[in-house]
Amino acid sequence: HNRTIIHLDIDCFYAQVEMAKNSSLRNKPVGIRQKHIIVTSNYPARERGVGKLIPLTKALEKCPDLIVINGEDLTEYREVSFKVTDYLKKFSTKVHRLGFDENYIDVTELVQCRLNQFQGRLFVGYLYQNSNTVKAQACDCNCRLRMIIGSQIAAEMRQGLWNVFSLTSSGGIAHNKMLSKIVSGLHKPNLQTAIYPEDTLDLLHSLELRKIAGIGSATNNKLQSVGITTVKELSTLPLAVLKTHFPTPQACTLFQWCKGIDDSDVVAATKPKSIGVEDSFSRCCTMIASKKRISDLIRHLLSRLVDGCEHPQTVKLTIIKHDRSSYKRESKQCSVPSTFYSTKDTDKKCSIILDLMMNLLRKLVDIHKPFRLRLFGVTFTNFKDK
Ligand SMILES: [Mg+2]
Ligand SMILES: [Zn+2]
Repeated sequence: HNRTIIHLDIDCFYAQVEMAKNSSLRNKPVGIRQKHIIVTSNYPARERGVGKLIPLTKALEKCPDLIVINGEDLTEYREVSFKVTDYLKKFSTKVHRLGFDENYIDVTELVQCRLNQFQGRLFVGYLYQNSNTVKAQACDCNCRLRMIIGSQIAAEMRQGLWNVFSLTSSGGIAHNKMLSKIVSGLHKPNLQTAIYPEDTLDLLHSLELRKIAGIGSATNNKLQSVGITTVKELSTLPLAVLKTHFPTPQACTLFQWCKGIDDSDVVAATKPKSIGVEDSFSRCCTMIASKKRISDLIRHLLSRLVDGCEHPQTVKLTIIKHDRSSYKRESKQCSVPSTFYSTKDTDKKCSIILDLMMNLLRKLVDIHKPFRLRLFGVTFTNFKDK
């Protein structure tokens, strides 16, 4: 148990960014809207029954005085999110962003430094309590001390995020990533929880499968179909049995996770080489219909330009013509003009790319003759560093 990993999750992130800007919102119910959905709400709103991802009309029925803020432009949230990560890098070079509002920080080195000058202070925040009367034996690798120091560092980080950005966060401290994320969800908001390695199985055995990050609905459904609903049940399955239900790498991961083993390193996610979307259909025969389909693709694609991929330099259009003899993909690409970067307006970004795509389409298809297409794809590549 030589590592110390902290998982930090900013509480109701979009809502808090708004509250940080306007402190009069703090004690009022606030919901962040995208289209007709409330995507995040602050805790006063949650107390009034306005949870995450509920329709706007339903939210207003439950809480007529809900303050609704349009959160469709992510620019500001993205900026705050990267500033938070930069701040956390003061504690360690190993920081892994998970979406806009979560970070894993490997503080092993910092803990090691402080271990030498340890003053015997105690935990900050909660410690996960083993509910069994028969306690697991304390490990003698010094990991208990590392968790105590880790909890002190997590408290400093959270205090810092409050002082600098007026953001509260919830934290988890453990000896691996998987556990740190699980325990950070045990006490929220604005609280933190640590766990001793020896209490790992006790915690895991109390959980439903979905509490483990990485077990998504597809994996969960598959396990349910073979009668596995809890982590405890999963841990009884031999690896060979798991391999009959899942591809080998996934079977091995599940086999380890349910025993609390996660050797994955905290490393920054690497930037993808390209981000693209495709849509196939039986026929598309007019420029008007093509424009509509391509426009929808672009809108969807723009929402995926996050985490250092905001500045693609190249955009590519792919098509498949309806042709009984072949399903050949054809594509053409062009560079993205600087006007795309300078505007923050999503509609404008969309129309800039749409114009480029329609030009490329005219090069791929002779529009003066009848045509029939069965697929469009739009792909951004060649991402520029900030
Ligand atoms: Mg969060
Ligand atoms: Zn240990």
